[in-house]
Amino acid sequence: MSLALTDSVATLKGVGQKRQDALRELGIFTIEDLLTYYPFRYEDLGARLPSETLDGEKVTFKGIVSTPAIVRRYGKRSQTVLGLLIDRENIRVTFFNQPWVAKNIEVGQEVAVYGTYNAAKAALTAIKLVPASTNVLDPIYPATKSVKAKTIADLIEQAWGLFRGQLPNLVPSTLREKYRLLDKNQQVEWTHFPKDSAEAKAGRRSAAFEEFFIFQMRLQLLKQADQSFGGQPLQYQQAAVDQLIQALPYQLTAAQDRVVGEILADQAAPRHMNRLLQGDVGSGKTVVASIAMYAAVTAGCQAAMMAPTEILAQQHAKSLAKLFDQAGIDLRVELLTSGLKASQRRQILADLEAGEIDIVVGTHALVQDDVFFHHLGLAVIDEQHRFGVKQRSKLREGGMNPDILAMTATPIPRTLSITAYGEMEVSIIDELPAGRKQIITSQLSERQFDQALALVKAELAKGAQAYVVTPLIEESETLDVRNVTEVYQSLQADLPDYTVGLLHGRLPKEDKDTLMQGFKENQIQVLVATTVVEVGVDVPNASIMLILDADRFGLAQLHQLRGRVGRGDRQSYTVLVADPKTEYGKERLNALVETTDGFELAQKDLELRGAGDILGTKQSGMPEFQVGDPVKDLTMLTIAQQEALALVRQSGWDQEEDNQALVAYLSQTMAQFRHFD
Ligand code: ADP
Ligand code: MG
Repeated sequence: MSLALTDSVATLKGVGQKRQDALRELGIFTIEDLLTYYPFRYEDLGARLPSETLDGEKVTFKGIVSTPAIVRRYGKRSQTVLGLLIDRENIRVTFFNQPWVAKNIEVGQEVAVYGTYNAAKAALTAIKLVPASTNVLDPIYPATKSVKAKTIADLIEQAWGLFRGQLPNLVPSTLREKYRLLDKNQQVEWTHFPKDSAEAKAGRRSAAFEEFFIFQMRLQLLKQADQSFGGQPLQYQQAAVDQLIQALPYQLTAAQDRVVGEILADQAAPRHMNRLLQGDVGSGKTVVASIAMYAAVTAGCQAAMMAPTEILAQQHAKSLAKLFDQAGIDLRVELLTSGLKASQRRQILADLEAGEIDIVVGTHALVQDDVFFHHLGLAVIDEQHRFGVKQRSKLREGGMNPDILAMTATPIPRTLSITAYGEMEVSIIDELPAGRKQIITSQLSERQFDQALALVKAELAKGAQAYVVTPLIEESETLDVRNVTEVYQSLQADLPDYTVGLLHGRLPKEDKDTLMQGFKENQIQVLVATTVVEVGVDVPNASIMLILDADRFGLAQLHQLRGRVGRGDRQSYTVLVADPKTEYGKERLNALVETTDGFELAQKDLELRGAGDILGTKQSGMPEFQVGDPVKDLTMLTIAQQEALALVRQSGWDQEEDNQALVAYLSQTMAQFRHFD
C-alpha cells in the first residue's frame, strides 16, 4: 500500500496514538503538515575560531588533538578531557559522561567538537563530536513537553525519505520564476537539511512566500464566497438619513463623514458588505454605526448591534434611543441580553421575528439559536476583536446574510491591518472630534500615591468624576496586586465627602447596572473598578483615571482604559501608578505618557515587543505565521496579497493545470481554516 502526502502522520513508524495527539497540538495532522513544519532556527555546527566566539556561546571548534584524551570516572559518571589546538590557541575540551569518545581520538588527529565555550578558562564543555569533513546546520524545531524537537527531526527525516521529490508545487510556476522561488522539493530539502546557511536562507524565503501566499489565497476565496452569497442592495432613504445627521448635537468630523459615505455606498451596492471600521477610542464610531443602522431601517430592514458586555449593550441601547428621540425619529429599539426575564425575552424574540422591532442591541444573547429576525439588513459588531469568528459567522447564518460592520479600537499599525483583516474592507476614522482636549498622562511611583490622590481630589472639587482601576479582584499575596476591595475601602476613608463605588466582574448583573447608572448620573463620584470598564463606557463628566499597578497591563489595554476619560469638555488626566522593574516596562509606560495616538502607540508596541508577540496575542486578532514574519517580511506579504488577488481575478484560474495542486490543497484545508478559533 502506498502512502499519500495527505495521509495521517500515524502511518509513519514510531507514531502511536499518544505521539499523534502531541503532533496534532502543533498543528501537524498529515505527512504534508509534517514536511512543512519548518525549523525556527539552526544550530550552527560550522567551525569557528575561539577569538570569534563569545563567552557562553554554543560553537563548533575544529582543530588538532594536542593532548591525549584522559577519562576520569566517578561511579557512573565520567569526565573526558583533551587538548585541542585551533590555529595557535590551545583549548581544553571536556566531555561529560561520554567516555567512549576517548576511543575515537588520537593525538595529531583533526576533529571538530560542538559545545559551550567558556572564554575565561579557554575551555569548551563538549556536547558532541562532529564529523570533521562537513559544515552542518542542525535544524531546531518548535517543540512541546510531549514531543521533543529531536523526535520531530527524526520523523521529518523518515517522511522525507518516503516522499523526496514528490511534493507538488503550490505556488504557481509563473510566480516562482518571477520572484526566484525554489521548487517545493528543494524548498523542503533546504529548510530541513541545509548544506550551508545560504541554502537555509533560500529555503526559508520560499517557504515564507508560500505561507503568505496560501494565507492570502484563503482570504481572497473567503471574500469571494462572502460576496457570492449575494448581498441585499438596500434602498435606504437619503433624505431621512440626512435628517438624522442634521439633528445630531454636533457636526460629524470629516473622517466620520467620509466613512459614513463608504458604508452607505456599500450597503446600497448589490454585493455583500463585510467592512471593518477602525478608529481610535473616542473617535466616534458609535454614531457612524447608528447612521448605518438607521439607513437599513429606512430601507425596510432591521438592524442589530452586538456588544461584548452587558454594560456596553445597555449604554448603546440608551444612546440610540436618545439619538432617534432627539431627531424626532420614531422607531423601536430593544435590548436583548442574557439578563432578561424569561417572559421579557420571549416577547422580544416574538417581536423581532414579527418585524416589530427595528433595532436590537445585545450581547452574545443575540446569536443564540432561538433568535430569528424578520429581515435583518445590517449587523454591527462592536469591539470585534472580542468576538470569535464563530460568533461572527453565526450572526451571518441567521438566514439572510446581513451586511456586516465590525468596529474596533484596537489600534493595529496600518501596514499590518491588511494581513489581519485581509478579507474585510477597512474604513478608518483618523481624526478625533474637534475641541477634544488632549488627555494628560503622567506616571507616579507607588510611593507617590498621595500625590495621585491629590490630583483626584482636585478634579472632584471641580465637580468632575474619577475612575480608579485595579488589575485583579482576588487577594494574591504572591502577586502583590492591590486588592480591588481594599483599594475601595481605603478610598472611602480618604474621600469621606464623596460616594465611592466598587465595580468588578463578579458582581451580580443588577448591581453592576445600578452602579454604572449611578456613576453616569453622578450619584457616585469615584468608581473603583477592574478592567470591566475597559471597553466603550461613556461618562463624559469623568476627567481623571488612576491606573494602579499599571505595568501589569498591556499597552493596548492601557490605551483603551485611558479612552474612558477625555470624552467631554473637561481637561482630562490619566495617572499611571507603577514601579516598572524592567527597562521594557519603563519604556512602555513612557510611550503612553508621550503620545495619545493609538496608531503611534501600536507602532511603538510593535517595536518594543517584536511582531511575534503582538501577533501571538488574541487581543490583536492577528493570525500567526510559522515561517514568515509579517513585520520583517512586510514587502513579501504585500506582494503575496497582490499576487493572490491577481490570481483569483483571472477567470478559470482554478481550471489551469499549473494550479491544480494549489486548488486541491486549498479545498482540503479550507474547512479547517474557517474555524481557526
Ligand atoms: P468610540 O469610537 O470610542 O466608540 P464614541 O462613539 O463612544 O467613540 O464617541 C465618543 C464620544 O464622542 C461620545 O460621547 C460621542 O457622543 C461624541 N462624539 C462623536 N462624534 C462626535 C463629533 N463629530 N463631534 C463631537 N462629539 C462627538
Ligand atoms: Mg465604542
